[in-house]
Amino acid sequence: VTPSPGRTPGSTLKRLPERARYDRETIDAILDEGLVCHVGFADGLQPLVIPVAYARVGERLLLHGSAASRMIRLLAGGTPACLTVTHLDGLVFARSGFHHSMNYRSVVVLGAAVEILDPNEKRRALDAIIDHVAPGRAAELRPASDKELRATRVLAFTLDEASAKVRVGPPKDAADDVETANGCWAGVLPLRLVPQTPVPDEHVPAGLPVPATVAGWRRPGRERG
Ligand SMILES: Cc1cc2nc3c(=O)[nH]c(=O)nc-3n(C[C@H](O)[C@H](O)[C@H](O)COP(=O)(O)OP(=O)(O)OC[C@H]3O[C@@H](n4cnc5c(N)ncnc54)[C@H](O)[C@@H]3O)c2cc1C
Repeated sequence: VTPSPGRTPGSTLKRLPERARYDRETIDAILDEGLVCHVGFADGLQPLVIPVAYARVGERLLLHGSAASRMIRLLAGGTPACLTVTHLDGLVFARSGFHHSMNYRSVVVLGAAVEILDPNEKRRALDAIIDHVAPGRAAELRPASDKELRATRVLAFTLDEASAKVRVGPPKDAADDVETANGCWAGVLPLRLVPQTPVPDEHVPAGLPVPATVAGWRRPGRERG
């Protein structure tokens, strides 16, 4: 059984703590379904939040970037970071502005990165980032060249300090607003990420089928209505 992340004062939810989750199953499912991770860190006095791709492998979250990247350089040097992944599942329309809300699942991870330097481990990590986005895609590609590997740095964060927060369900209107709604509609508009028709680039020969990794692309996770 994979242990749940340790709860530290920094990763314990204080606002609406009933929406908090600290179990690995919830955290892993949110991370595995996400595509973009926002990485917050400080560059001197200036806080920055940078969107990047990622993958979860076991108890680690992997990022990659150009060897020339300021973000990668700072994080590889041990700058503490805060990583967030968010799914927007619905818009919650209440009978007052105060109770309007959103249904969401989000994870916040705190920590500092370790750089993956071993070439074989680095290749596996880069494949994992490709496969996180589209499972099975890495096996359809040529291996990364040594030059590409040198140009790319890979960082790993543990999930030791991680929390999830989840809101589900209808609006939580005050009872008197429900009574005196005067025809004001209330409920949830569910939202989801839906792929459109794939667009081949200009060099794809006529008749080459779209691979299943693209044609059958979908995010893992439970179906939501
Ligand atoms: C969906 C998505 C996935 C990405 N995946 C990766 C990834 O896996 N690895 C990776 O290295 N990069 C990724 N990027 C690009 C990433 O967001 C950064 O632009 C890049 O890493 C360079 O960061 P830096 O701090 O070195 O940039 P610098 O060029 O040094 O940043 C200078 C300034 O440019 C602005 N800036 C930087 N990035 C952005 C941005 N994305 N949008 C708007 N303004 C910006 C900010 O003001 C920043 O302070 C991704 C971007 C998106 C939107």
